[in-house]
Amino acid sequence: MSETFTSVNDDADAAGAIARTRLNFDLDVDVCVVGAGLAGLTTALCAARQGASVAVLEGRQVGWNASGAMVGTIMPGFDLALPDLIERVGLERARALWALSWDGAEFIRTQAASMPGIGLSEGALEVSNVDAGDALIRRLQMLHEDFDTEVEGWQVERVRSELKTSRYFHGVYYPRAFQLDGRKYVHALARLAHKAGARIFEDTPVVSIDASGVRKRIVTPSARMRASHIVLAGNIHLGAPLQKLSDTLLPVWRYGGVTAPLGEQLAEAIAFKGSVSDTDGIDHFRIVDGDRLMWASPETTWDARPSGFASALQRRIRTVFPQLGRVEITETFGGVTGQTVHGMPQIGQLRKGLWVASGFGRQGMNTSAMAGQLIAQGMFAGDDRWKLFSPFELVWAGGVSGRVAGQVVNLWVRGRAAAAGTLARHRERARAQERIREIRAAEARQRAAQRPGSRLPLRPQPSDLTRRPDAGEGG
Ligand SMILES: Cc1cc2nc3c(=O)[nH]c(=O)nc-3n(C[C@H](O)[C@H](O)[C@H](O)COP(=O)(O)OP(=O)(O)OC[C@H]3O[C@@H](n4cnc5c(N)ncnc54)[C@H](O)[C@@H]3O)c2cc1C
Repeated sequence: MSETFTSVNDDADAAGAIARTRLNFDLDVDVCVVGAGLAGLTTALCAARQGASVAVLEGRQVGWNASGAMVGTIMPGFDLALPDLIERVGLERARALWALSWDGAEFIRTQAASMPGIGLSEGALEVSNVDAGDALIRRLQMLHEDFDTEVEGWQVERVRSELKTSRYFHGVYYPRAFQLDGRKYVHALARLAHKAGARIFEDTPVVSIDASGVRKRIVTPSARMRASHIVLAGNIHLGAPLQKLSDTLLPVWRYGGVTAPLGEQLAEAIAFKGSVSDTDGIDHFRIVDGDRLMWASPETTWDARPSGFASALQRRIRTVFPQLGRVEITETFGGVTGQTVHGMPQIGQLRKGLWVASGFGRQGMNTSAMAGQLIAQGMFAGDDRWKLFSPFELVWAGGVSGRVAGQVVNLWVRGRAAAAGTLARHRERARAQERIREIRAAEARQRAAQRPGSRLPLRPQPSDLTRRPDAGEGG
């Protein structure tokens, strides 16, 4: 990644004064973790807290990829929509998985409590691009009754009082979801893992592994290691150590940016203080530093420079909040997420002592935290809840043709969402105009009835609905 989110400086790392050199001597440990993103670092932290000797081997630097380029929203659940999850594994198992996803979020909250300046704030809002009141009620019922999740349904008026845009209709508010500075979090996590005894080596790509024996062998350019457990947490970059595993992930690059300070006009447009994402997974934003807007949206299935998406972000922000005008994007960031064919993360043991923690997609904060805990518990505490993920096998993601298909599907999903949104807004305008016509007709009838000698009835006609012209159908 050439550019990442840089509004957070790395002074915290300097303060931690942790030298993370290349591994250039042979080492024997209990656990070797490949990759120092969120998944690898959480696993390392949890394993070290279990008393294991742990080494993390990172090919570049801590948080180099997606884990260092995030909006920082922590929500429950997975990339796979809840109804699809239930359909796949049944209600009981879906409930257990959903509860684990909350555990992941709560794990982050607990660690964040010891991280100064992490900027944790509560509450996240998921908004609908279409007028989907019925679907909202069904979703709320399901979350509340079947999944024991605290949620509030927001009608159109409530959403639009917090977000001054006609693009969004209903919303689901998660009071227990939260957000924090994602880049600071990954570095603070590395410091916690280090404090717990894990050794982290940067600039140390793992080039091959031999996982056949009880003591597994790991080869890096300058040293060899032996370990009882290997955890593959390299996301789509894992490569040579287990190419077949990388091939089960569809790489999707996502890009974001941060605007210059926007002053009071930002608070006028966006009163909501937490993260906002839409149900189609297109836009994801929140206010940072008081009056700057952090916004992630564009996606590709190839690697591109994040700065190349600054104008796409400007256009996107202007589309949703035209009143902000053409905002200046002062920072851009991006990273690649590994998406699985089934939308669920890959968590489990491929063979005895060879673990995998990847495929976290767009929702990697809570799910990678969950994975780290489950794997460490699986290795050292006889806890086999990781097996709840066994229905989600490693499915080949299609290689180059898979990427092309992925981009087509991505564009299609975005196009379809845009069309549905346009239609919903058109219907809303048509309904409003119809009501204005009805109100005018009613007023005309009343005036006519009040004229001397008039025979027109004073009683309101059925069509004389005195609803506000701007009231939504579901409102
Ligand atoms: C723009 C953007 C915004 C996002 N916002 C959010 C959000 O708000 N909330 C949320 O929940 N999720 C968000 N995500 C998703 C989340 O960032 C990812 O799901 C998560 O960071 C994945 O973590 P990871 O540890 O699996 O992978 P990575 O962050 O990719 O880490 C893997 C590490 O492994 C290393 N590695 C790979 N192969 C090897 C090897 N052979 N040897 C040594 N090291 C190796 C890599 O160098 C890399 O550092 C966002 C993603 C992007 C791109």
